[in-house]
Amino acid sequence: MTHLVVVGASLAGLRAVEAVRRDGFDGEVTLVGAEEHLPYDRPPLSKEYLAAEECPDPRYREEETFAGDLDVELLLGTPASALDTAARTVTVGDRTVSYDGLVIATGAHARTLPGTEHLEGVHTVRTLDDAIALRAALRGGARRLTVVGAGFIGSEVAAVGRKLGLEVTILEALETPLARAVGERMGRALTHLHRRHGTEVRTGVAVEEVLSADGRVTGVRLGDGTEVDTDVLVVGIGARPATDWLEGSGLTIDDGVVADETLAAADGVYVAGDVARWPNALFSDVAGGTMRLEHWTSAADQGGRAARHAVDPAAAKPYETVPYFWSDWYDGRVQFVGIAPDDGDEQIEVVAGDDAQGGPFTAIYRAGDRIVGALAVDMPAEVMKYRRLIGARKTWGDALELAEQRRAQRA
Ligand code: FAD
Repeated sequence: MTHLVVVGASLAGLRAVEAVRRDGFDGEVTLVGAEEHLPYDRPPLSKEYLAAEECPDPRYREEETFAGDLDVELLLGTPASALDTAARTVTVGDRTVSYDGLVIATGAHARTLPGTEHLEGVHTVRTLDDAIALRAALRGGARRLTVVGAGFIGSEVAAVGRKLGLEVTILEALETPLARAVGERMGRALTHLHRRHGTEVRTGVAVEEVLSADGRVTGVRLGDGTEVDTDVLVVGIGARPATDWLEGSGLTIDDGVVADETLAAADGVYVAGDVARWPNALFSDVAGGTMRLEHWTSAADQGGRAARHAVDPAAAKPYETVPYFWSDWYDGRVQFVGIAPDDGDEQIEVVAGDDAQGGPFTAIYRAGDRIVGALAVDMPAEVMKYRRLIGARKTWGDALELAEQRRAQRA
């Protein structure tokens, strides 16, 4: 193996090149990124980057990331536009870059409301440029913020809006926000958390039309005919994997690039991060199928694994992980580990605190006799303990025992 090419110069891509260099790989490494920026961290973009008075720079500092001898050829500002797996080449602008091993780490793009992309006052939050524009909008005399979608990123922006003193409304199509991610009961608890902080949450509503005057958003009309006035509209309706450039490549695309358990999508081609869909063996007995995560920790971790496999396919091993993400709402933190099986609230037990008040609380999730997930609101010390049990395929009884020990320690 002489040339590793990594497409996508963000978290997973950066961790990919760092991992192989740390391991002593001395071949050529090329990192291709569509954005002009050096790799940067996305979590702050919907949190402190918007909220802090002094604007923190979310870019990874050059001296930390490209320090000394990483020796990476950086091709920034031009997206890869095609992949030929037979010839082992990637097209970048007018260049054809040959690879021996390839890591695809192109992440995802924010979904938009069609037709609103050029309307002033309408924002998504995926890139640094998005966050720069939203920060200016929230601080530019806006009084009302409306967020479409009560997912994690939309919820964080809503929380920042409240912190900045705006009137905030969240519009959510589902009857229970986040029900698919954390289950109905926990979705209700998280909705309560918003309402406790003065955010209006309207559920089961569909945005029929975005209203505007002189090229600027003024509000939205809902399916029931009511209108919500707004100065700033944030569209937080999820992300779609960045796979357009792989059309015709022969890779299997199905809401992400589909890979095997070693993260291999084709000979010499591995995937990592938000774009990757793979069978996570840890949950094959309870959830089956493949999963695609949009979590910082797994993107970072998969980046390293995919690159190691790309430079040494013979040593590739199945990649399994306990998903983990955090989300900062108001002055607290929501954390989730594992998976939330979709077979109902009876599979969830609140083991600390009170979910009816929107937190603090910890809840655990079961599938059959296994603990498979845990959610904590404002109880930061809890979920990692359950994460270890989930990773070790421990039983529900083991989880209840841990809950009892934790209760005793807190008392
Ligand atoms: P990305 O970070 O999306 O990077 C992919 C890169 O590839 C991009 O720079 C893109 O421009 C580039 N690219 C795309 N197409 C091409 C192409 N054809 N050629 C070259 N380059 C291309 N996770 C948490 O666990 N906790 C959080 O609190 C949290 N907060 C978040 C807040 C925000 C606003 C966002 C957007 C995400 C948040 N996440 C959070 C998720 C986390 O940031 C992502 O899981 C992580 O960034 C994924 O990394 P990635 O490298 O796979 O993809």
